[in-house]
Amino acid sequence: MTSDHPVAGRVLIAGGGIGGLAAGIALQQRGIATLVCERAPELREVGAGLLLSPNAVRVLRRLGLEDAARAGSRVIEEWRILDLQGRHLHRMRPVKTGIPALSLHRGDLQLALRDALTPGTLRLGFNLTHHREIPGGVEITNETGERLTGEILVGADGLNSRVRSGLLAPEPARFCGYVGWRCVVPWIPRGYEGAWLSESWGEGKRFGISPLGRNRCYWYATANQARASSAPVDVRSELMAMFGRWHAPIPELIAATPAETILRTDIFDRPDLSRWTRGRVTLLGDAAHPMTPNLGQGACSALEDAWVLAREMASAANGTEGLRRYEEARHRRTSWINRVSRLLGRVIQLENPAATAVRDTLLRLTPGACSDWAMRPLFRFDG
Ligand SMILES: Cc1cc2nc3c(=O)[nH]c(=O)nc-3n(C[C@H](O)[C@H](O)[C@H](O)COP(=O)(O)OP(=O)(O)OC[C@H]3O[C@@H](n4cnc5c(N)ncnc54)[C@H](O)[C@@H]3O)c2cc1C
Repeated sequence: MTSDHPVAGRVLIAGGGIGGLAAGIALQQRGIATLVCERAPELREVGAGLLLSPNAVRVLRRLGLEDAARAGSRVIEEWRILDLQGRHLHRMRPVKTGIPALSLHRGDLQLALRDALTPGTLRLGFNLTHHREIPGGVEITNETGERLTGEILVGADGLNSRVRSGLLAPEPARFCGYVGWRCVVPWIPRGYEGAWLSESWGEGKRFGISPLGRNRCYWYATANQARASSAPVDVRSELMAMFGRWHAPIPELIAATPAETILRTDIFDRPDLSRWTRGRVTLLGDAAHPMTPNLGQGACSALEDAWVLAREMASAANGTEGLRRYEEARHRRTSWINRVSRLLGRVIQLENPAATAVRDTLLRLTPGACSDWAMRPLFRFDG
């Protein structure tokens, strides 16, 4: 930390997920001291697959982390939308920016980000319970009563952010009416050796298959359902009942996946906010703007946030001005992505057979170039 920098004290970041770690790296690269406080006692390879579109890969490139992200990933050049019998409905090849899209394991990315932080600036096992502003700074406290101070606090602590609930009026996350299942398996199904992924759409259900690097494959599914109950479920039987008659290799993939490796997640978002900063405290990633996974943009947006936060903090006259400028630079784009993602979810999760027939016909008739064009503003990030 240089003493003549306008941000004179350290920036505390709550949450060592994709957004928190990336923010730590981006700030450090601009000479701003940070401490990332993560509640987990260790960072392990948790989660499943992630698709990082070119806007996010551009951020990684600027941070000098593209090669680290590419190790273990698969470049994706084409998105194929299929029906449940495996017939093509639509193809998109939106990657004409010179920057690839990558399909990778969330855990691989998280570990690559961890390794790029300055040693000693990641504090594990710190479960933030509350924060408060103090003269000239902020103080955070964990469940054992330990306190840490800094000049600025960034809440990057995910969907159920403690920082957010201490900052803004409490408001429950919004359940979107469908649940998701995700898994990474250590083999690539036949036919998925190329630079493409598929998403198959049915009535109120979908199934995605996206190969990763190192001979692994990420699959995911969604279905219109009530929120998970605590009663134990035989997840494979549940999935086979829904997808067992879909096209190959979907039933084979489910049947060969150990049930205990399948993650089930209720899908939530929150209505978009135009303000998520108060004084010396701001939010980033899912803590600020959790979105449905339909566009695959939650982690991508968290990476963009990290880049813009560091850029604004480094050029502002002081930390609070930097936070204000960061929020101003980000709210329009993240609100737009959030709304489009939710809308797309409604279309994908349509259940009525007549409505899905119309949807599928329209998709079949729409040239792929139209989608390539429509996706361009999403995949371009000039920040
Ligand atoms: C089914 C599904 C599929 C998805 N697919 C994609 C995709 O393909 N592409 C994409 O870009 N996005 C995708 N996403 C979204 C993406 O996973 C998230 O948007 C992204 O992980 C958000 O990153 P984050 O750092 O903001 O939050 P998180 O990843 O949730 O990280 C928050 C961190 O904060 C820590 N934490 C929480 N509370 C505290 C506390 N009190 N104190 C300290 N630490 C705390 C947590 O342990 C965690 O490490 C998907 C999401 C789902 C549900």
